[in-house]
Parts: sequence; structure tokens; C-alpha cells
Amino acid sequence: MLQQTQASTVVPYFNRFLTRFPSVRRLAKASEDEVLEYWTGLGYYRRARYLHMAAIQIVGKHAGQVPDSVDALTSLPGIGRSTAGAIVAIAFRQTAPILDGNVRRVLSRFYTINGKRGAANTEKRLWAHAEANTPIKQVDVYTQAIMDLGATVCVRSKPKCPDCPLASECNAHRQGREHDYPSLAKRRSARVQHARFFVVINGKGACLLQKRPPRGVWASLWSPPQYPQTTSVSVFGDDFDLPTTTIAKTLAGPKFRHAFSHYQLEIEPIYVFLRASCSEIAQTHDLRWHHPCDRAEFGLSAVAVKLLTEIDSKRAS
Ligand code: SF4
Repeated sequence: MLQQTQASTVVPYFNRFLTRFPSVRRLAKASEDEVLEYWTGLGYYRRARYLHMAAIQIVGKHAGQVPDSVDALTSLPGIGRSTAGAIVAIAFRQTAPILDGNVRRVLSRFYTINGKRGAANTEKRLWAHAEANTPIKQVDVYTQAIMDLGATVCVRSKPKCPDCPLASECNAHRQGREHDYPSLAKRRSARVQHARFFVVINGKGACLLQKRPPRGVWASLWSPPQYPQTTSVSVFGDDFDLPTTTIAKTLAGPKFRHAFSHYQLEIEPIYVFLRASCSEIAQTHDLRWHHPCDRAEFGLSAVAVKLLTEIDSKRAS
């Protein structure tokens, strides 16, 4: 959960998740929908799917015990060398280096390593320093400490060097060049893509949700159907066997943007209110009606969470 997400955001999700899935076996038994339900709102849903797949493999291949070696851990979905190192060091107190974003920043500054992120030579140098610094004794304390140092003291924009226990030996600090390390990849301005989301509401106030494909953004989460921005209500209606006579009212909501890591999605919601008398679209494995007041026992995309809360105000307008 902490990959790409701040601890303060994670805490309530972590507590809820652990209450629902208190063991690897319980997590392995859950359906993907159930796991995604407990991840809704946290983003980067691939982490939830990998965690679920890893739990299934731990039960199937490791008798339900989380493996204690970097090799075995990295063979599980979603666990790279650094995460494996953190598990081995903190959970099993065995020596293994880590190189997450925070540690990478501390080491880059301390040793003034300024290569391109991801370049083989930079990675090699950073891992070599990570390995050389990882102690045999109290490796759990060291690992937590260097991660926390990066997260709270050697922070990206204004490192708190006067408070840093490494200040007297840190190359970047001695040169007054903390901000030159690590070198930042040039940010390209985010592309903008456009889409229409059709928010169909039946006579009972329930909204039509569609399960998204297993790959791509918001994979396997439930959401109002997404279409290209030029799709008309009648073209959408044809797909769902909704003749225009069944529609009481349509309404275009204000556009808004959702930022993904590499692009922004500009979303135009189109609200489609059906007549109370019309026959309903049948529920299938990837279509369901969901009343916004009910608890969703499945994962919702971020756009679904937002649009479901706005239905009432659109009905009145
Ligand atoms: S002295 Fe400053 S730049 Fe160096 S490790 Fe500490 S916080 Fe980071």
C-alpha cells in the first residue's frame, strides 16, 4: 500500500484491509471483487491485484507461509528486489538491501550519484552502496531508519540537512548541492485524453455499472460505461438496447479531469435518466445495477465514486 502513497493516506485503508483479511489464507480465499472493494479510493489498483495473486501463490506454493528469501519473494507477483529486501530485513531480520525511492534519494545525495534513473550504471552504483551499507546486526532497525530518513528528513524539495544525522559526511550537503541529486527525469507535459461516461439511472434510482476489462486503467473495477467523447446518446443506447423512448431525460455534467501517472483523462459525464416504466437492462457478469446509497461490495473506479455521489443533484436539475 505504501508504494507511491503516503503513510498518512494508507493508515485507514491498511487497518480496514487487515481487519477484513487478517491472514494470507483469508486473502487468498477472497474474490478479486472483494479485494478491490477494500482498495477503492487508494488508487494504483494493480497493487491490490498483485497482492491477491501473491497470497494465492503463497498458499499454493509455500503452504501459506510468506517466504523469507529475496529470490522466492521476487518470484511472487508485484514484488521487486527492493520490496523483497524490505520484507526480508524487517519481517525476518535477515540482511538484504533495499533501494526504494526514499533510500535512492539519500544515497544519491550522500555519494553524489547523478546518473539517469533506471540507467544500468546508476542502478549498479546505487545498489552497490545500498548493499555495502546494509548491516548484519539490527538490519530491521537500519532499514526502517534509512527509509524514514528519506521520507522525513532528506525529502525531495527542502531537505532538512541541519537535522540530518548524516550531514557531516554527506557529499551533496558539503558541496551545498543537495538539490542537484538525484537528477530528475525531464517531465513531459501530461497528454490529455477525452472520454464520455454514461451514467444511466433507472426508475428506482439505481445506476448502471460495467466491469472494466482486466487490463488498462481501473482494470476490473466497476464504473459507468466509458465511450469516446463523440459518442451520442443514441449510439450508446443502441449498444444497450435502450431506445430513445425509454429515456426520460439526458443531461451533460461538467467536465473534469482525472490524472494518471502518464496522462490526464478529461471526463464528460452524460446522465441518462430512464422512464420508470421501461424494462431494465439485464444484469450479467459484467453489468450490474447499483443504488448509490447501498454499500458497494466490489471495487469502484475513482470516476464511479465521484459520479455516484453526484446523481441526486443531477436528478433534481
Ligand atoms: S545531509 Fe541533507 S542531503 Fe545529505 S542525506 Fe542528510 S538530508 Fe539528505
